[in-house]
Parts: sequence; structure tokens; C-alpha cells
Amino acid sequence: MANSKSRKAPNPFHYINRSPATFLLLLLSLPFMACQEDNDAPALPDLTIYLDRFEEEARQRGYDLDLSNVDVAYVDELEVDGRPFCGWGYSDYDGFGLRRIEISTDNFCGWQERSDIERENLFFHEIGHAFLNRSHDESLLCDGSPLSLMNSTSNGWEIYEEGEEEERAYYISELIDRLAASGQCIDYTQSWVNDSVFYQFTVEDDRWVFNSREGAYVGAVSSADGSAGDRISLGLLPENASGESGRWFRRLNNPNIPECADVTLRVTMNSEQLTVRGAAISIRAFRAPLGKGGAQDEEYLFLTTTEAPVSGKLDNYVEELTIPCYSRSTTFIVLFLRLMAGTQGEVSFEDIELVVKE
Ligand SMILES: [Zn+2]
Repeated sequence: MANSKSRKAPNPFHYINRSPATFLLLLLSLPFMACQEDNDAPALPDLTIYLDRFEEEARQRGYDLDLSNVDVAYVDELEVDGRPFCGWGYSDYDGFGLRRIEISTDNFCGWQERSDIERENLFFHEIGHAFLNRSHDESLLCDGSPLSLMNSTSNGWEIYEEGEEEERAYYISELIDRLAASGQCIDYTQSWVNDSVFYQFTVEDDRWVFNSREGAYVGAVSSADGSAGDRISLGLLPENASGESGRWFRRLNNPNIPECADVTLRVTMNSEQLTVRGAAISIRAFRAPLGKGGAQDEEYLFLTTTEAPVSGKLDNYVEELTIPCYSRSTTFIVLFLRLMAGTQGEVSFEDIELVVKE
């Protein structure tokens, strides 16, 4: 999913839009014209060469992978949410697990004039999405360069360049196994001793998702006033009942946290009165172990207080859950704020934060 700000000169070559008549003519005259046809219009490489090349790179690192199940295609243009992209990797194109990579031949991307190493940069990034189930990772190394080929804010054609064999070897290794970054100096952007808060909820964070269980629960986000900070509320409507817990959740991709740090979700709860079961918090952590036919998302850790939810009157009650010895193989974590099924009342969650202890 890399786009490009640089524009190349328009290219008259149209790969897809050739008429059948032209195609037939070309076919017939190919033996005579093969050397002249593409003088100012370089041929598009067969995309499977990059699949084969990636397999070979993986093999050299001890992985036996089969990318023959990855669909590849050139498309005239790629637009997602009104934005043009030069490549797109789908890990589930059809809802049945089809892995597919599309490369745009739009002049905007200039794929036709790109060097082989530039094309490889983009294509391997898309393999990251389509085959390795990776999402964008904007973490940086101490020298300011991207930690991963999955970076989406740097120039995605030039994460490594021609002749940078060491860099290329690292980025491909990191793509296959995120733990390859362990030997690098990683920029955490904060000193954990002085500032241990990795994440803190504010009302500007619009990535929290509310599940009302078909309208049984009400949820709201409100900003700091008086003694209360930014908070998320969750309550069961008086006339309702639900067999499921009401919940808010927030996904965090590729958390840039040191290997084996303790990571604590800390939440302060307030309530006038919660009866019956009460409120709880949970964390789910996922990784994407690699099999021969690609990576599969796998939940490897589930921490929760749902077995012992808190109820009654809550006066700045602090609840905590700790991931011991966090692994950088973690692809994403999900934080949950819950009101257990059957609970009456409303709870507000404040000072929602993830704290890191190295
Ligand atoms: Zn991408």
C-alpha cells in the first residue's frame, strides 16, 4: 500500500488497453519487431519473478515458503478511499483467504521507468501485507531510517537502494521475522525511565470502537472537566437486557515496545452503582506465525478481569493487567473495556493507559 509523491513523465505505453486487432498484429509481427517495439516503452516484468525471488531470499534464511498461491496482477489504477496507490497487498481478497498483489501501471507511479530494486522495494512491501499478514510499521531505527520495509511514510521505492546489500539483507530478514530488528538500535521516541506511558487515551483518539450489542448499551466519550480527565463511559439502558457484555475496544498495531518489557494496561473506574456482575478490562495479543503457505494471525495471550469484575460504588478504582515479558513478534494488541452481561448501571473509564517497564 505504498503511494508516491513523485511523478514521472507520461508514458504512451498502454499495457491493458490494446485492442485485439493490435494484439494480433503484434503477435504476427513479433519475430521481426521484437527488438524495436519497446524502444521508448520498456516491457513490464512478469510479477512472478518477485515472488520467486522472495522465496529464494526466504530459503537462504532457512524458510521453506511457497508463494505460488499469491495472485499477482497489473491494474490500470489503484484507488482506495479516494487516494491513489501504486501497489496493494490483500491477505484475504475474496473473503476465502485469497492472497493477491496488485501493482498499478498508472503514470502517477511510474512503475514502467522504475529500476528493478525500486520495484522490488514496493513488491516485497506488498508481500508483507499479502503473504506475511503485516500491517504498516512506522517505527524508526536510531539513525532515523525505517525499522521495517512495512514503513508507509518514507519513500517506499527506496527503503534500500542499489548496492546497499547489508540494508537489503536486514529489511528482508525483518520482513520475514520481526525479531530480526532485535539486533538494531531502535528509536523508542521516549525514555521509559522518565516517561513510562506508551499510550494514553484522549478524546482526539477516534480509534476506539463501541459495540452496543444491538442497542442494549450506551457508550460515550467525553473530555476532561473539573476533577475528571478524558474518559469513556459504558452503561446498560434501564429498559434493556443483553446476554453479552457491552464493550469498547481499541486495536494498536505493531506496538514499538522493547523486547521483554512489562506492559501494563491501567484504567481508573468510577460508578455511582453497578449491580449484579460489574465492569472489567481485557487485553488480547496477536502474532502472525509463518507457515509454508503464508502467515496466519494467532491470538497468543488473553488477559482479563472478567472472572472477577468489579461492582458496587466505584470511587477512582484502579484496575490493572500486565503482559509479562512483551514480545516484539506481537503484530497487534487489542484493549477492551467491558460491562458484563446482566450488569445494571453505568461506569466511566478514565486514565486509560499502557505503561512500560523495561
Ligand atoms: Zn502498505
